[in-house]
Amino acid sequence: MYIGRFAPSPTGTLLFGSLLAALASYVDAKHHAGLWRLRIDDIDPPREVAGASQGIIETLKAHGLHWDGEIIYQSQRHQMYQEALAVLKEADLVYPCLCSRKDITRRCASTLYDGHCRTNLIDPLAKQCVWRFKNSQTSVHWTDVICGSQIYKRSKTTDFVLQRKDQIWAYQLAVAVDDAQMGINNIVRGSDLLSESAKQILLIKALNLNSIKFAHIPVINNRAGQKLSKQNLARALNSTTANKNIYRALQILGQQPDPRLKKAKVEDILHQAIIDWRLQKIPLSYATTID
Ligand code: GLU
Ligand code: ZN
Repeated sequence: MYIGRFAPSPTGTLLFGSLLAALASYVDAKHHAGLWRLRIDDIDPPREVAGASQGIIETLKAHGLHWDGEIIYQSQRHQMYQEALAVLKEADLVYPCLCSRKDITRRCASTLYDGHCRTNLIDPLAKQCVWRFKNSQTSVHWTDVICGSQIYKRSKTTDFVLQRKDQIWAYQLAVAVDDAQMGINNIVRGSDLLSESAKQILLIKALNLNSIKFAHIPVINNRAGQKLSKQNLARALNSTTANKNIYRALQILGQQPDPRLKKAKVEDILHQAIIDWRLQKIPLSYATTID
């Protein structure tokens, strides 16, 4: 059975770009008679905005995007991440690192980590360290359902961080553990996360988890060519025009919704969208921008 999900970070209100990802993952799941789950990625308290989770949840509901089962909160899953790290320690697939960003730029002429602490072993109990994944693959190959064949060379992935100095779990570890535990087998999300799939795939293999099919939809920009974000003052979604927002989002996703549905209720627009859905119609980039 198809199990998909939407996994927003509660760093602000739900913007139109996230609605595209939520909608695409929802309709794709329902088109395949699957489940669509919701996870709040509240793993990084310093980046969290008070009330954002609730705001996102309300906005999804107003847009007719109803999830299956309980909402999962990453903030309640430290134990699972700890266990995954323990498995990787046991398999000698991680190592502690004390290098500061400054050390790394001084040694490497770039911000890419050089694997220094793989061989210069430090005592993990001596000081607060970060835990890095020991990546021995020279490259990662996979096929994205939308973006096609992908290759990530070792130099791009390097030995990425799984747990930060301040004990906060890296997104890459949390997402691999959670998606597996939630039974997710299909991910539809924004292409700003395309390269993260390489790391997720490496961790899936290292932790012996089930593989996942990835589909990355294009990211929508504002008129200045920037990704929509709080920083560039993207407007919050207006839930009172949810039907209009959903209709517009379907158009942008290349689905050509019936113009007669333009003023219909969200439920009716979504019902038809699920029947007519063609993932292959999603363009490789959008012809339009959004403010
Ligand atoms: N929480 C992540 C974000 O909002 C996305 C997680 C995912 O879809 O894998 O950027
Ligand atoms: Zn190091």
